Amino acid sequence: MSCSSANQGQEREHRRLANRAVAVSAIGLGMVGGIELALALFTGSVALLGDALHNLSDVSTSLAVFLGFKVSQRAASRQFPYGFERAEDLAGLGVALVIWSSAVFAGHQSYEKLVSHTGIGHVFAGMAGALLGILGNQLVARYKAHVGRRINSITLLADAKHSWLDAVSSGGALLGLVLVALEYPIGDPLAGFAITLVIVHVGFEVTKDIVVHLMDGIDPDQLVAAEIAARTVPGVQSASARGRWLGRSLVLEIDGGLADEVSVREADEIGHRVKHAVLAAVGEARQVRWTAAPHAAAA
Ligand SMILES: [Zn+2]
Repeated sequence: MSCSSANQGQEREHRRLANRAVAVSAIGLGMVGGIELALALFTGSVALLGDALHNLSDVSTSLAVFLGFKVSQRAASRQFPYGFERAEDLAGLGVALVIWSSAVFAGHQSYEKLVSHTGIGHVFAGMAGALLGILGNQLVARYKAHVGRRINSITLLADAKHSWLDAVSSGGALLGLVLVALEYPIGDPLAGFAITLVIVHVGFEVTKDIVVHLMDGIDPDQLVAAEIAARTVPGVQSASARGRWLGRSLVLEIDGGLADEVSVREADEIGHRVKHAVLAAVGEARQVRWTAAPHAAAA
């Protein structure tokens, strides 16, 4: 098709680098979370338990995105004519459930720790676990930021910032354990509660994104950008846009008004130009559907 642009190859390369960054980070954080979880069980520290659950929640988010991405690449069929892109949102619902359960569990364990006044064994092993959390998240943050800057990916840069904040969260667990080492045992449940709040925050963000997607909500600015781009094409007298996310694909529908005397062939050619203009103007758009009508008749 004549639609294929010169930088499609570069875009594919960028996506490959982004996927690799997410995969490597997820594997690294999965190991960090696993070790933290083992040390949390060994020491009885609820702060470390919360931090481990938080890191594993983040990994499960990446895993769901990855699985959803794999499934969404399946070709559309007669039974699923719009393809499988919603698989990602479905996986996201499962992840949200896991994260909220982790928050409830971490919060409950912290409460139990607070009221039972049970101590922690091997506090230095716990501190080593928290240090590992700080180091692991810092490394991942730097790596994602490096790749994100290289391929100019806002998503990866935001991800890097998330990992940086996660390092701060692990720092909270460390602080709690330092307090325990200084004979203030309340430090552990307090840090546990603080980290539970971080998990609640992650759960809220994940749930909000999925609900907006499932409700077909989008950023209205993207519609405005699409309409402006469509109107720059010669022959287009009016344009109104709607759009929805199918997984990670933003599908835009443009209703355009053309002059009465425009032929079907010309209308098709104009539609082709509109698609290019809109795809260039709205970076997230993957598909543009164009419907033309005489301007006077177009609503
Ligand atoms: Zn996180």
